[in-house]
Amino acid sequence: MLDLFDVSGRTALITGSTRGIGRTIASGLARAGATVVLNGRLDEGLAPVVEAFRADGHAAHGVAFDVTSPEGVEAAVARIEREIAPIDILFNNAGVQIRGPLATTPIEAWRTIIEHDLTSVFLVAQAVGSRMVGRGRGKIINICSIQSELGRPTIAPYSAAKGGVRMLTKAMCAEWGPHGVQVNGLGPGYIATPMTQALRDDPEFDAWLRRRTPAGRWGEPDELIGAAIFLASPASNYVNGHVLYVDGGLLAVV
Ligand code: NDP
Repeated sequence: MLDLFDVSGRTALITGSTRGIGRTIASGLARAGATVVLNGRLDEGLAPVVEAFRADGHAAHGVAFDVTSPEGVEAAVARIEREIAPIDILFNNAGVQIRGPLATTPIEAWRTIIEHDLTSVFLVAQAVGSRMVGRGRGKIINICSIQSELGRPTIAPYSAAKGGVRMLTKAMCAEWGPHGVQVNGLGPGYIATPMTQALRDDPEFDAWLRRRTPAGRWGEPDELIGAAIFLASPASNYVNGHVLYVDGGLLAVV
């Protein structure tokens, strides 16, 4: 049965994997047997992470590139496929957050979030997906969020971007499903990472979140690994265009 979840011999690119959710999911895929290609903007940030993966006995490579740069993305994907291996699994994880009231959100903040959280998914998936289509197989997982479904004050651009990722996932499924490529979303609830540090440091938000979430707590990054491996492995071969929420039940209740 466990063969269904085996990703050994597969090569996985995980964008934004120098810390947080991306790093944890990369570690889970590596432990499940995949060769992982780690990514962040700068070589300096990436090198120690690659070293740590290798010290743990994992097959790991680091390729620094900016997920918002069309030229950078294409060059990096071409290099990975030429020098490492064809990409079997793409985990589109990189993203940023800037919080503030909608009425005074500067256009630069809007553009930054849309570029990092939505356009990046289009760019990297296009570069990798077109190659997967040629090979007739592949797994693409796009990071969504409960904000793909729900709004909340102070994060309008982020909600717009994550809602867009949910629909982009369905559009990719429609075009690439017939070519053997499964494209799904993974939607975390509130997870304890550097991105949510400010929220966890706010006693009022922390208390609200614990009350609001049926699980009664924040999620840990490693609680996303099982879902990530499912969506990256043969176990999900007939799952396509789906968003799998891992949110402690938050979306199930009002
Ligand atoms: P972190 O801020 O902890 O990590 C973000 C990662 O993205 C870092 O590795 C960073 O690398 C990388 N990154 C940022 N910009 C770029 C870029 N332009 N090019 C390449 N890499 C980049 O965030 P989280 O781990 O919390 O979040 C990861 C993803 O999960 C995001 O898309 C986020 O929106 C989503 N998410 C998070 C939730 C949470 O509760 N934490 C809930 C739902 C979704 P570096 O700085 O080295 O470039």
